[in-house]
Amino acid sequence: MSAYRDMLCGEPRAEHAGRELTLSGWVGGRRDHGGLVFIDLRDRTGLVQLVMDPERSPAAHAVAQALRLECVVRARGTLVPRSDATRNDQLPTGAVELAVGELELLSSSEVLPFQLDDENVDEGLRIRHRYLDLRRPRMQELQGIRTRAVRSIRRFLDERDFLDLETPTMTRATPEGARDFVIPFRLEPGTFYALPQSPQLYKQLLMCGGFDRYYQIARCWRDEAQRADRALEFTQLDLEMSFVEREDVLSLTEQLMAEVWRDAGHEVELPFPRMPYGEALARYGSDKPDLRYGLEIGDVGAAVAGSEFGVFSGAVASGGVVRCLSVPGAADVLSRKDFDELAGFAKEWGGKGLAYLIFEADGSVRSPIAKFLSEAEIAAIREASGAGNGSVAFIAADSQAVVERVLGALRPHLARRFELIPAGLWCFLFVVDFPLFKRNEDGGWTAEHHPFTAPKREHEELLESDPGAVASEAYDLVLNGLEMASGSIRINRAELQTRVLDVIGIDPAEAEERFGFLLRALRFGAPPHGGIAPGIDRIAMQLGDTDNLREVVAFPKLGGGADPLTGAPAPLPAEQLAELGLAVVRKPGA
Ligand code: ASP
Repeated sequence: MSAYRDMLCGEPRAEHAGRELTLSGWVGGRRDHGGLVFIDLRDRTGLVQLVMDPERSPAAHAVAQALRLECVVRARGTLVPRSDATRNDQLPTGAVELAVGELELLSSSEVLPFQLDDENVDEGLRIRHRYLDLRRPRMQELQGIRTRAVRSIRRFLDERDFLDLETPTMTRATPEGARDFVIPFRLEPGTFYALPQSPQLYKQLLMCGGFDRYYQIARCWRDEAQRADRALEFTQLDLEMSFVEREDVLSLTEQLMAEVWRDAGHEVELPFPRMPYGEALARYGSDKPDLRYGLEIGDVGAAVAGSEFGVFSGAVASGGVVRCLSVPGAADVLSRKDFDELAGFAKEWGGKGLAYLIFEADGSVRSPIAKFLSEAEIAAIREASGAGNGSVAFIAADSQAVVERVLGALRPHLARRFELIPAGLWCFLFVVDFPLFKRNEDGGWTAEHHPFTAPKREHEELLESDPGAVASEAYDLVLNGLEMASGSIRINRAELQTRVLDVIGIDPAEAEERFGFLLRALRFGAPPHGGIAPGIDRIAMQLGDTDNLREVVAFPKLGGGADPLTGAPAPLPAEQLAELGLAVVRKPGA
């Protein structure tokens, strides 16, 4: 292979015994048995045992004795079979070892800041020394999973005539609902580029440019709070198609996902269900429902509208809802303290509390509120929540938004607590028919997806009169409760685009100023088009079975946004600030 190695560390097998080999790698382990020294030589493919015998090769033995973990060495010797007593069947290379004649230190290692086999290393320390962290087999595995997923994606799209086109990363702000990262422009101090929150507008311009089918493995930047599944910079498969309707994009996307999953060794069933947004919220309290388990939400508003229990009847009277879900087998398990904790959980999610009915094994009902409920009301709750004997039904009464939020959070919480989530299931679905707008904090409207999403044609006339009622051509792809992709059919008429921007508070003059380039393109023959953008990091998270996005990114930032590896972000020297025409103003109190 090269002067450094004839094989990789994970490759030697019994059939190679007798061969003279050169191997190189890291010292992953070292055992000094007085006479013999053993080294586990490691690279990305695995590890193989080296044996240094002072009799056979005193020089190699001396080098081995002085080695620290993670030194890089080259070893030459004879591959020999191990005796039955010393063979290691746990290790793919465990039938052989290299009897070393020559051992050369290629690069030494200082004392390590953490041991590579320690599972509980602080994440900051791991990221600061990511080059060490990445040597762990798990990290190598995750990057392998990610690479193979991207390879499958490219192959799938290349076979279908998609062009892989680049778009600028220094651009104008693209509104995707987050703040922009900006780049000051030295040649014209006081002006700024923005890093794209997505290539959204460029991909639309590519459609106007006649490209028909585009994709890009694109980096996106969004200045927003980070979470386990969200980072300041992330990668998405951005794709766009011309002369398509929603179903064309969804069908391509589900086939693509099935192929990526198949290449990773998992079969998934097609087609994925398509569920309207309203139904997802009503049945699961979430627009990204996890369908691996039941715990479906039922509505009892009508049945308890006249209830003696004022919390229920009051909620209905003030235009709210009363909804419930039940957990099988919880009746014997949950204590008073648990119920108090769950009420606390509901409060954290904005509820006022959480009512419950315990359905005992014998069918009787126990609850502090049972005395206020009629038999018919109890029967309705039992039915709507699907509660059998031995179950507990939880009931939330409030405005619709609050009830959906509370029960939507409670559902996965209880599923985890009662271990109701089966392993090895891939529950994909598309959520469709999102509203076009949502209310923003100051009572105006903002785009639910992004402002280039088309309204449903039959709702166009409601844009100005009843924005809240306008449904859109947006869709999300959801897998096991995680949003994997968002997309939509876009607006391809300048006049409609201007009206939509107007609803979200961007009047025609501002629209021309900020989005004139798009509006102009839409005035010169823009084809109907639409697309979607699945998150590459999230695909890798799912296939790699981790719920922390940073695990699948080679060089992530810490939760707070800083990069402990390079020390970024960092202040700029005064001359550089001056050159850019910038002055740093401390925020009061900072
Ligand atoms: N640009 C959108 C996003 O990043 C995806 C799309 O609409 O294609 O969410």
